[in-house]
Amino acid sequence: MQATELNMKEITQEKWNKRPLIISGPCSAETEEQVIETALRLNKTGKVDMLRAGIWKPRTRPGSFEGIGTKGLPWLQKARQLTGLPVTVEVATAKQVEDALHFEVDVLWIGARTTVNPFSVQELADALRGVDVPVLIKNPINPDLELWTGAVERVAKAGIKQIGLIHRGFSSYGNTEYRNAPMWHLAIEMKRRNPELMMINDPSHICGRRDILQDTAQTAIDLDYDGLMIESHIDPDKAWSDAKQQVTPERLAEMLDNIVWRKEDVASEEYHAALEKLRQQINHLDDELMQILSQRMKVAEKIGQYKKSNNITILQTNRWNTILERAFVKGEKFGLSKEFITKYFDAVHMESINHQNKIMND
Ligand code: PEP
Ligand code: MN
Repeated sequence: MQATELNMKEITQEKWNKRPLIISGPCSAETEEQVIETALRLNKTGKVDMLRAGIWKPRTRPGSFEGIGTKGLPWLQKARQLTGLPVTVEVATAKQVEDALHFEVDVLWIGARTTVNPFSVQELADALRGVDVPVLIKNPINPDLELWTGAVERVAKAGIKQIGLIHRGFSSYGNTEYRNAPMWHLAIEMKRRNPELMMINDPSHICGRRDILQDTAQTAIDLDYDGLMIESHIDPDKAWSDAKQQVTPERLAEMLDNIVWRKEDVASEEYHAALEKLRQQINHLDDELMQILSQRMKVAEKIGQYKKSNNITILQTNRWNTILERAFVKGEKFGLSKEFITKYFDAVHMESINHQNKIMND
């Protein structure tokens, strides 16, 4: 059945509000056949709510495939007609907004490399004034919540009512397990600040590889994300962009089947009573930890007094190394990761230095 335009507005609304919202499709639209076959196979799984495809590709370096351009938009239009699924594409300029809307793209998204640039975001916002279209905003490539928030504000000020967030990870220097470090805490903080905005996770661009997609998607669902955007391709290894991270539509369906879907709450008195008891324990332990930390700072201040009267520097690198080495060994025994121990001791150390600084300069 061919969906009418009015109908498509309603379907888009319905999908936008569905939880979890699943968006999939190729990194890039390459050929008409590839777009149509991907769409049909995704639709056949019955697990996908919206089709995605990059038409204009912001590549970090020139020389790689930079997107098929406007000529790919009719392919998406056809895929949309054949499947009845709303489509979404990335836009980075006013002209791209105009072209996408002309070819009935249902949802627009702003890419990570655009969110970093207030000029570009403002250009998009101006092009969106008076338009009734939902917009998804990816996090900026650098870990800066103010830029992400700024993009949301610019788009909202242009009158766009439906705004969603996509967490796609953050650039970091050097090789890590991920292509883009997830830095979950930043997305959690963004969610906390904007409880009314949906938050979707994009494990494809976080992972950059297929083998850890499943775990990353599960983490997002465990953290109460509203949905997932995962890239899929009929022949992933031959994809013209992001080949390593794409999966076939069938593999995507398998991954979605493997996810343990969680809900935020359940109407069970027993569950709530048990949870309440455990939460009281946590509060109690947190109070104790703070008391102990405060005692630790008092001892550090005493050391500061001695250092002051003997004119000794606050920072003693050897002593600090010893503390860390002890902590790693002990931490491992207690089941605490090296990463956590490092962060925790860095924070405690900085606080100690601040306390000693006050004493020294009093
Ligand atoms: C994409 O979704 O294909 C893309 C380019 O994403 P990002 O903006 O997250 O890099
Ligand atoms: Mn991609």
